[in-house]
Amino acid sequence: MDFSALTKRSSASFNQHKNLLKKLAKGQAVKCEVCQGILTLDLKTQQPAKGVAKCPNGCTEIVLDLA
Ligand SMILES: [Zn+2]
Repeated sequence: MDFSALTKRSSASFNQHKNLLKKLAKGQAVKCEVCQGILTLDLKTQQPAKGVAKCPNGCTEIVLDLA
């Protein structure tokens, strides 16, 4: 098992999520990597202090920590 690769990957995705949230908060358009649709931020989730960024086709659904 290569744990260093695993750690690297998860921290990269953490930063990706932070950048994504930053862009969405500024009202910038963020595109889905799969379908190139514009992601929308849904704040009405079941979990408090969480938002979900979704693309129109549903191939991307990223839970963002808003706390
Ligand atoms: Zn998509």
